[in-house]
Amino acid sequence: MPDDKKLTSRAEDFSAWYNEVVLRSELADYSPVRGCMVIRPDGYGIWERMQRALDDMFKATGHRNAYFPLLIPESFLHKEAQHVEGFAPEAAVVTHGGGKKLEEPLIIRPTSETIIYSMFAKWVQSYRDLPLLINQWANVVRWEMRTRLFLRTLEFLWQEGHTAHASHDEAEEEARQMLGVYRDFMEGWMAMPVVTGQKTESEKFAGALRTYACEAMMQDNKALQAGTSHNLGQNFAKAFDLKFQAESGDIEYAWNTSWGVSTRMIGGLVMTHGDDNGLRLPPLLAPTELVIVPIYRKDDERARVLEAADRIKASLLEWENREPGRLRVHVDAREGLKPGAKYYEWELRGVPLRMELGPRDLDSNQAVLVRRDTREKRPGSLDTVGEDVAELLDQIQNDMLDAARERREKNSIRGRITYDRFREVMDGEGAFVYAGWCGDPKCEAEIKEETKATIRVLPDEEFQSAEPPTACLKCGGGAKHEALWAKAY
Ligand SMILES: [Zn+2]
Repeated sequence: MPDDKKLTSRAEDFSAWYNEVVLRSELADYSPVRGCMVIRPDGYGIWERMQRALDDMFKATGHRNAYFPLLIPESFLHKEAQHVEGFAPEAAVVTHGGGKKLEEPLIIRPTSETIIYSMFAKWVQSYRDLPLLINQWANVVRWEMRTRLFLRTLEFLWQEGHTAHASHDEAEEEARQMLGVYRDFMEGWMAMPVVTGQKTESEKFAGALRTYACEAMMQDNKALQAGTSHNLGQNFAKAFDLKFQAESGDIEYAWNTSWGVSTRMIGGLVMTHGDDNGLRLPPLLAPTELVIVPIYRKDDERARVLEAADRIKASLLEWENREPGRLRVHVDAREGLKPGAKYYEWELRGVPLRMELGPRDLDSNQAVLVRRDTREKRPGSLDTVGEDVAELLDQIQNDMLDAARERREKNSIRGRITYDRFREVMDGEGAFVYAGWCGDPKCEAEIKEETKATIRVLPDEEFQSAEPPTACLKCGGGAKHEALWAKAY
């Protein structure tokens, strides 16, 4: 059980607050191996719900799951020049097996483009074999030096979609489609609003033609890259000889995309919604949506209240007029703990809705419902408890998205801004700053060097300012793009 020492507040030290929330709400724990983490049942329960929702969305867009090996011949990594440059420094290499030195070292996958496209090359002969739409749920290893629970760990869980197409335009459409799927998931399920757009050349995936990303604002005003989708062009097809006979009879290289989201999203969930009392989970992803806390003093009260709590739980489980799925309800019948201590613990764990149920409530055929997001209390009749709970959970889900979006917009800066003011903002409270960029990588690199802020994306049209910036933030030259600048995780 979590201890009842007060959490460090977000204002005091956001990073300490984050670690305490993750550990004390029992989402994850440090592992005996430096930089790895153990995902505990409450954290894994969130991941399972994320997986299920995303998996349904991938299948609805025509993808199928497959599984490729953890180990990849080291030579594969070297076949695509940018890819090896990007991933070799953080590769974990297996040199021995069964007590013998291996003839060729194997790397533990940091991502699976190489092994997957080597297999696609075997499976694709003709345009009739295309498009090939595959997803895999897997773990990957990247030897990071500085790690944070969920945000950056040596090993993490993710999904990686990999597709092959007959034309550039089809691949582009796929990459954009999956970016849209991610956005729908992040906003609809995580209640985490994102800005979508294209990465600059310096920030794109190693080996991609173009990278698109979803960027979310955390409560310290830093950006979290929460998902990426890449149009890989023909780079990997050429490296792995992935060719097909086109309708015209010509032999052509295929066009690939890859796209991924990971357990990093759980870190995003914590930093988007958590408060000084702990986690706040959006109902759709909460392993428990409603906790019933029985209140009693004497033994006869105890029996009566517990019996009622179980009866309410059973009736809620039968509540079928609700999409998607059944209500997830828990009765906290633990002995030897005061109701106040239970409230504190369930708030820390982020359960969206709490029902307080005592003998006097039962006398008046009611229960008290308390929202985790607003901590608002309201009594409700036991006759309509199913409708009330389902309605409140929907309301909480929507309100959390609205609140997060409002916070992001309040902390976004658009319109004319001097570079001095920009530096001040990035040194201080941080922000999403929409500003002009001349397109020169030198300006981008200098700003990064001087302020640690990077171009998160060149935002998609709907996120662009009504009046586009005319001058580059750094050199004052003509702006080619509007860029979204922020410090990032
Ligand atoms: Zn410039």
